[in-house]
Amino acid sequence: MKWTVLFFLLFSISCTQNDPNFDHLRKVMIKNQLQSRGIRDDAVLDVMRSVERHNFVPENYRDRAYSDGPLPIGHGQTISQPYIVAFMTEQLQVSSQHKILEIGTGSGYQAAILGELAKHVFTIEIIPELAEGAKNILNHLSYKNITVRAGDGYKGWPEEAPFERIMVTAAPTEVPQELIDQLAPGGRMILPVGAQFLVQYLWVIEKDDQGTVTKEKILPVRFVPMVKE
Ligand code: SAH
Repeated sequence: MKWTVLFFLLFSISCTQNDPNFDHLRKVMIKNQLQSRGIRDDAVLDVMRSVERHNFVPENYRDRAYSDGPLPIGHGQTISQPYIVAFMTEQLQVSSQHKILEIGTGSGYQAAILGELAKHVFTIEIIPELAEGAKNILNHLSYKNITVRAGDGYKGWPEEAPFERIMVTAAPTEVPQELIDQLAPGGRMILPVGAQFLVQYLWVIEKDDQGTVTKEKILPVRFVPMVKE
């Protein structure tokens, strides 16, 4: 009898430390923010359910980690709205064979989502402190297939190119040609394009097996600008 009491005591202590409320809030987020807006891909829904967004949010915003919007991550940058992360991930059509390039690591959350689905994610962040922070949290969470580097995303990552998939999470005013060049034949890229205070759109760029590039505008969005060094 005493052992049962002790077990329940230890169980409830470990639950408070983990804040079980986050698991609940994440389930609600999946239903109310993602499924209700048309996210259908089970693999995407599963990773949005398993990756803990609160680990990527600064301490003082943690209680809002599952709210329906972007949140500040310091240095004037933001972690994207969960719906946008899920939408872009679904549109990218990722498989476990893919090598992915992400531009704009930020908090590292989107990289973690992609890392769960792909073979390897290479991600570039222009603000060294954010790159360092993302590297630390991704190491702490034991992601072995995500490589973070501080640098200018306009140049892509030529040593690792070509990439089957590219995702850009900051908005350039035009699609950077270097990134199109680093897309593999049969590859797909998603990125927001447009000036900071004007309407930006998400574009899907495809490169077929012959190297022909097509572009499609799919959704109006608001992203931080992709800055030039
Ligand atoms: N994907 C991030 C959200 C990114 S916000 C997440 O999951 O949290 C966009 C990020 O792009 C910012 O951190 C910003 O510093 C970075 N950025 C802007 N211009 C860049 C550039 N030229 N190269 C690399 N990163 C850039």
